[in-house]
Amino acid sequence: MIEDEPKVARALRAGLERAGYEVVPAGTGEEGFFLASSQAVDLVLLDLMLPGRDGLQVLEALRGRGLRTPVLILTARDAVEDRVAGLDLGADDYLVKPFAFPELLARIRARLRSGRPDETLRLALVDLDMDLVTRRVTRSGQLLDLTAREFALLEYLLRHRGQVISREMLASDVWKETARATPLDNVIDVNIARLRKKVDQGFAVKLIHTVRGVGFVAREGRA
Ligand code: CA
Repeated sequence: MIEDEPKVARALRAGLERAGYEVVPAGTGEEGFFLASSQAVDLVLLDLMLPGRDGLQVLEALRGRGLRTPVLILTARDAVEDRVAGLDLGADDYLVKPFAFPELLARIRARLRSGRPDETLRLALVDLDMDLVTRRVTRSGQLLDLTAREFALLEYLLRHRGQVISREMLASDVWKETARATPLDNVIDVNIARLRKKVDQGFAVKLIHTVRGVGFVAREGRA
């Protein structure tokens, strides 16, 4: 919630928390931009008239960074140009103050129902970025050339980052092998080795690790 007026911010926050939402408040555009781009939020409530960087600039900066989190603009400005500018810059919805609180809640629910694109369309770990739509994978901005299998493997590891993944899990979930008539362990190990080479070679921070006797884990670490 990016809103500079303390009274409005307090009222919004109280109402949203009563409705069961967790609210991360920001009083300036800079702070809002920082919070919205550095932590996982489901939706951004954005006031337009802000001191310093205004709402439209914040929106432009967020979309410029590829952030697809739904943005709902709340503003006292009812000028058509503002509305058009906001929507053109990638806002998902627009509400003019004063508004009825139940309407705000309904709009929020509608936006959240339409999915969490950030989580499902993009995966990231440290400087590794996976765009599941364009299927582009980059590390520190460098494009990685992955086979379809390596892509699926990396996606699975990132979706379960921090969790140890067994070869059995990979066999059933990535290779879709249910019966395991022929053990896939060697095939899996070869694919992991190739993937690791592409992802980690030349980087001090390793992202794919072997957990001896158990399986693999994607996390930030050394060696
Ligand atoms: Ca304001």
